[in-house]
Amino acid sequence: MSYQIDSKYLIDTLHELVEVDSPVGYYADIHAYLREAFAKMGYEMFCDNKATAYVRVEGADSSKTVCVGAHLDTIGLIVRGFNDDGTLRVRMLGGINYHAIEGVTCRIHCRGGEVVMGQVICNKHSVHVFEDCRSAERDENTMSVSVIADVACPADARALGITEGAIISIDPQFEAFENGYIVSRHIDDKAAVAALLDVLRWLKETGQKPAFDTLFAFPMYEEIGHGGAFVPEGVSEYVAVDITLLGPDYDSNEHHVGVIASDAKGPYDWDLTNQLIRCAKEHCDADKWDTQVCFHYSTDANAASHLDHDLRHGAFGMACLNSHGRERCHVDAIVETEKLARAYVMGEGRA
Ligand SMILES: [Zn+2]
Repeated sequence: MSYQIDSKYLIDTLHELVEVDSPVGYYADIHAYLREAFAKMGYEMFCDNKATAYVRVEGADSSKTVCVGAHLDTIGLIVRGFNDDGTLRVRMLGGINYHAIEGVTCRIHCRGGEVVMGQVICNKHSVHVFEDCRSAERDENTMSVSVIADVACPADARALGITEGAIISIDPQFEAFENGYIVSRHIDDKAAVAALLDVLRWLKETGQKPAFDTLFAFPMYEEIGHGGAFVPEGVSEYVAVDITLLGPDYDSNEHHVGVIASDAKGPYDWDLTNQLIRCAKEHCDADKWDTQVCFHYSTDANAASHLDHDLRHGAFGMACLNSHGRERCHVDAIVETEKLARAYVMGEGRA
């Protein structure tokens, strides 16, 4: 069977998703967006106490439950204090590369509900002012968030509602090009969320049932390593859909879906990974898939396995250039990722 995927839907959905702020731990807006999107499709979303959103779909065979997940959280910042000039001292949420966010605008989500615009700046911010502007380290002791307002002291910032613990989302700077390339922050992991939303839409529109009872899971804490710490009872397989990598160790390009054989925490389940490889061989374009060992990286599925859940784990996803910066992929990679997700959900490739 060949799966026909609507690439325009994927691009449009990815664009919508990256514009909804969801830095690690800040879930109100993305939950509201998803609840409405699922309701429109005819699904009911529910959440566990750790803010993972789920949709449950009954399978042809209810003797087991599988889980396929894509994380909602993105890297971001949290306010830890104030400098004397009213700029905000921050800590990173997830693996921020400060070089990649200098000058970028951001939204400060205050505890009282206010949203204040800011800009990430280096304390040595201007080549015309600081001799060491170019050579200064960019890290969380040398970078701040400057509120885009008349703020000259901590009291001015506090008057806008900003306190310690306000969570900051980085502007996605989304651009989609005619030739199919997409440049945006938060392709990790919203491209995978878009692919799973389209799998759910496809199941509903075609009236098909997955092979087994299937939980679609959308966790909020992947970027800090514990999105998969809780897994609902009865789940015996957890497949994470997340970015794969490009670079010297990766025989990949931006059109690819990658099956992750191992990551920083160790190998994924042998049989399940082989099943995913069989699905890729059968359903993905022959020139657009690969297998990877992602040794600087891990996923919610491996977190779930490491935290003693009795389950088989696997992972795959779209290749992504410039990860945790202004990322880039080709829509082909999301299309191939969705093909693989459909094949897995339909129980194909089982030995
Ligand atoms: Zn990710």
